[in-house]
Amino acid sequence: MQQALADFSIEGFEALIASWGFKPSHAARLLASYYEGGGAADWDALALPAGLRGRIESELRAGAGEVAARRESDDGTVKLLLRLHDGRAVEAVMMPDFRGERAAGCISSQAGCAMGCDFCATARGGFERNLGAGEMVAQFLALRREARAAGRRLRTVVFMGMGEPMLNLDAVLEAVRRIADNRLGRLGWRQVTVSTVGIVPGMRRLAESGLNVHLAVSLHAPDDGTRALLLPPGRRFRVEEILAVAAAHQVRTGRIPIIQYCLLRGVNDSPAQAGRLVDLLAGRRMHVNLLRYNPTGAGLSGRIYEPSPDEAAAAFLAVLRGRGVVAHFRKPRGRDIDAACGQLRGRAGG
Ligand code: SF4
Repeated sequence: MQQALADFSIEGFEALIASWGFKPSHAARLLASYYEGGGAADWDALALPAGLRGRIESELRAGAGEVAARRESDDGTVKLLLRLHDGRAVEAVMMPDFRGERAAGCISSQAGCAMGCDFCATARGGFERNLGAGEMVAQFLALRREARAAGRRLRTVVFMGMGEPMLNLDAVLEAVRRIADNRLGRLGWRQVTVSTVGIVPGMRRLAESGLNVHLAVSLHAPDDGTRALLLPPGRRFRVEEILAVAAAHQVRTGRIPIIQYCLLRGVNDSPAQAGRLVDLLAGRRMHVNLLRYNPTGAGLSGRIYEPSPDEAAAAFLAVLRGRGVVAHFRKPRGRDIDAACGQLRGRAGG
């Protein structure tokens, strides 16, 4: 399989062009221009030696993922379906920030997902394969182009799209390095969040990786029983253990973990469950993001989930805040464009 520029680290690309007889020093300049251009180098400004551009164009693929479908929401959210070299498809989302000049991106780490979370559209298609680091970089570059087209800068990225990042961690870490690297994506560690449904060994490795990124944990229930119904990994890793490892991440990196909690009517949205969540977080520096469920049809179990009514959601938030937990509602984005993970791909037959 031919590689794309997005597949290379600086060192790897230096080695490649050196093997073609060109000075390795051109590699960093060329990749910097490629990242800056959102996946298109400014060849004229680069003034490369004769023959290098032709060699690159004949030996490498143009991109690591082509935009196969694009949907734009009334709120400015753009969802992309990227077709990979083997025909598989993944989703990436650009979300305008409330600050006028900024945007956030959401990146997939796997094609499909093996986790089987009951309320997730991606789960229904099953797992296809892990993405390479270059395929994640390609999503970042496509989102950077989208943000620019909207007059914004892509300032943050979350690995929260299709797939479980901790089960493809080596490639995720490599993609994070390139996206954050001051010579390539130039985003910085602080601007990157890696999410998980609570895969404890991966969380430990992330904390030990030395990459100072943020961690988001999709908890969605304060007790093991409810969690196991919603998230099959909940049967393997206990809530206490997950939070203990998230706390260790906080100590190691100084980054406050985000607890993601999607409120589902009659499942996990009672005041008693809010109280239990507060008890779990006592003495831990963590913030809670409450999410509104974006309906995706029947889950793998056949159960149909509904978003919490406004009053129940407000009461849940009030319990958390009333007992000193930092908690916010994350504004739903792109509801009119199937912005829940896996929905666009499902519709596009990806
Ligand atoms: S919620 Fe995330 S981890 Fe769970 S099935 Fe969907 S993509 Fe996979």
